[in-house]
Amino acid sequence: MKLAIQPRRPDNSTQPVKSQTSQTGLSPVLERLQQLHRTHAPIHDGKVATYIPELAKADPDTFGICLVTASGHIYEVGDSQTPFTIQSISKPFVYGLALEDNTRPDVLQKVGVEPSGDVFNAISLEPGTGRPRNPMINAGAIATTGLIAGKSLRTRQRRMLEMFSLHAGRELAIDDAVYRSESETGHRNRAIGHMLRNFDILTEDPTPVVELYFKQCAVSVTCRDLGIMAATLANGGKNPVTGKQAIRGEYVESVLSVMASSGMYDFAGEWIYRVGMPAKSGVSGGVIAVLPGQFGVGVFSPRLDEHGNSVRGIRVCNDLSRVFNLHLFNTAHLGQSPIRLKFNGAQVNSSRVRTPAEAALLHHHGHCIQTRQLQGNLVFSTAEAVVHDVMEILEATDFLVLDLKHVPAIDESACRLFAELLTRFDSLEKRIIFTHLAHLPRLARYLKTRFGANFEKHFRKFDDSHLALEWCENQLMHSLSPAWQTVRSATIENYELFAGLSQKELATVASVLQRKRYRQGETIVQAGDDATELFLLANGLVSVTVAMNNHTHRRIATFSAGMVFGEMALIDQAPRSAHVSADTDVACDLLSMADFNQLGETNPRIKIVMLQNLALGLCQKLRKTNREISVFDS
Ligand code: GLN
Repeated sequence: MKLAIQPRRPDNSTQPVKSQTSQTGLSPVLERLQQLHRTHAPIHDGKVATYIPELAKADPDTFGICLVTASGHIYEVGDSQTPFTIQSISKPFVYGLALEDNTRPDVLQKVGVEPSGDVFNAISLEPGTGRPRNPMINAGAIATTGLIAGKSLRTRQRRMLEMFSLHAGRELAIDDAVYRSESETGHRNRAIGHMLRNFDILTEDPTPVVELYFKQCAVSVTCRDLGIMAATLANGGKNPVTGKQAIRGEYVESVLSVMASSGMYDFAGEWIYRVGMPAKSGVSGGVIAVLPGQFGVGVFSPRLDEHGNSVRGIRVCNDLSRVFNLHLFNTAHLGQSPIRLKFNGAQVNSSRVRTPAEAALLHHHGHCIQTRQLQGNLVFSTAEAVVHDVMEILEATDFLVLDLKHVPAIDESACRLFAELLTRFDSLEKRIIFTHLAHLPRLARYLKTRFGANFEKHFRKFDDSHLALEWCENQLMHSLSPAWQTVRSATIENYELFAGLSQKELATVASVLQRKRYRQGETIVQAGDDATELFLLANGLVSVTVAMNNHTHRRIATFSAGMVFGEMALIDQAPRSAHVSADTDVACDLLSMADFNQLGETNPRIKIVMLQNLALGLCQKLRKTNREISVFDS
């Protein structure tokens, strides 16, 4: 096994939001996006828009995808940083600005929210009022642009650009060539502007408003920008990368609603039915889709279908939704972090009691054993959070224990991400260990189907998280020193309790020890019994268990040869507090309390050395408990 024990890294290092890869490999989420990119790149259907001459210059093969989670993780593939103009994708964002600048009733008075089913540049106004049906068709969008507050055109333009920049998390600018090209050819939009003026929807000269509309369409963005802008809407209006509020939360729902009902022109009904996410497309080939509370995605590919939507954009969103179960009406709302506890093997150890040398090894190298105790339902976004967390520590991790005890359910997409994570660990000769996999039969079945009959070769599973940890610790110690193995038998010179005694003193003590044997499974100490002796383990393994409140028993310690147990009673004379039984056939040397006290009379030095050793052992136990408290109570 290859080990990644250098360099040492603190477990809870909070690193700045990083991009998609660690040095050791690709995130499974990114890999999935790459797969989508590969699948759809060979599609050359559709045509680049030419009615704005400058748009006709776009390279039809450009293709980028960028998914940004509501917690700010960015996954991008292909031409995700190629600039293009935002076009109609500007409309929902300007609608948000109009809502902020005016009140909702005032905006609704000027622009409706009914899907029109018309093409984007239809001159369709509500009969009678002249009110455009919704803000996503040009008539509604031009009316919305007219609602941006500001005395001068310059101010309005500045405010509009600031709003876009806040959503994207960087300063955006207008592509002048595209703006001029559209202005020179935008007669139909001018006609719409004049119609709106005629009905008093626009209450001022329509010409500058239409020019500002052309400019908003000509804002230059990349696919990455679109992903972040969409994620800002997914995150209640707060840009998840910069942490800045781009639009007041109360208006996000209105923006997403009009996207859901009218965002894809005359394809909107079909879209929400199939893909089930609010979305918006533009004639330059961009598409954004938003899964509220979870993530936003931006796709760019200039070839358009007959509705004016990017062909590949639609297919990518469609596949994403299907593969990850993203339909808006198919997801439960999730609030809680899926990681209940995280710790490494230097902070928390298994209940196997270690020799001082073993404990030192684990203390120095245990950080390559990582445990994640998960909680709540695992769906794409919660599984992504786990995968993301794990990818961050991948390099420095050799063993990952995923504790599923508190996970009530898992969906197909989360199973897939975990399976992909497993493959990644496998290929790097790192190990994933599941505990309580039996809780999630769906995951067990999925792994079985995915990895075939020998599926358990790809990961380990335990019903008890301590056994899982113990296995990892043992593997680690084997790799660090191949000759290492559990001490199976000890002679009197090896007893920890007697460290520091001379040969003569050892002989004195030996004369009062009494050898006793126990069969595997036999009870050695019963909780509640009076304590009359301590036990020195000569052969085999014993386990200490305590009764829990729920009437189950929990193993709290396992001792191996050379160690002492039952010693506390010698100090406080209280009844036994736990149950001890033999894990294997066992031989013990018993030292009775009477003999111990007697030794104090005849050989006080022996008693002092033994008390010192006992105190040292108790110190070590207390320190272990303190370390664990700092993890469990944080
Ligand atoms: N600027 C374009 C227009 O109004 C935007 C249209 C679009 O992206 N659908 O014609």
